[in-house]
Amino acid sequence: MMEVIQGVYKISGIWDQADLGANVYLLGLGGGFTLVDTGYRTKYRQILKRIYRLGFAPTRIRHIIITHHHPDHTGGLAALKELTGAKAVAHKLDAPYIDGRLPQAGPSRPGWLKSGSGLFSGMLATPPANIEIEVEDGDDLPVAGGIKIIHTPGHTPGSICLYLKQEGLVFTGDLLARRLGVKLPSMVFTADIPQEISSIRKLAELDFETACFGHGFPLRKDAGKKVAEFASKLLLLRGNTKP
Ligand SMILES: [Zn+2]
Ligand SMILES: [Zn+2]
Repeated sequence: MMEVIQGVYKISGIWDQADLGANVYLLGLGGGFTLVDTGYRTKYRQILKRIYRLGFAPTRIRHIIITHHHPDHTGGLAALKELTGAKAVAHKLDAPYIDGRLPQAGPSRPGWLKSGSGLFSGMLATPPANIEIEVEDGDDLPVAGGIKIIHTPGHTPGSICLYLKQEGLVFTGDLLARRLGVKLPSMVFTADIPQEISSIRKLAELDFETACFGHGFPLRKDAGKKVAEFASKLLLLRGNTKP
């Protein structure tokens, strides 16, 4: 468990292992509680236990924001909504995958479609959950003291980053990951790579100090600068990136 900045917690396990699938964050800002992403389907009890351990009653969670529709981010949503009464928030283009109107999409690279899609029908199968608040680019969500929605498609059509301007903090979802440095997410699971790169450049224009990733440890210093450096490196690669 890590307090990234005051009131923002990364919910994780023993020795801070990312054992929930993707990182899950708890925001105790603006007088309410908000969860960002929900881990795999089977992890919701651990998430609730860890929120208790931080000293907060999970029933105080009013909103659960989903950065994109992949099962390592949405798995616990249905159960957590039921147990907390929270409202779910997601981009309108990913909402249909989350509420079951569209089938859960598998890995996007050819060749992985056959071998990888079994993962999505087995233990990763995610129960559908309704999205009460569908958001779009530029929306100001009156949650956690104010969150600006940045639509950053590529990894999925409705991937979003969350910008907390006052705190100088962004949640990147799987637009970026952190492994040693700032990196691209899994390319196998990324639907549109050129679009992904444009979205990283869009994020790089924002002013922020701290970045919380879907996978990997938060960057707590100079995050905006590091993302901008990474974005300019990607421009050089762009010609070689085959979808
Ligand atoms: Zn992920
Ligand atoms: Zn993903």
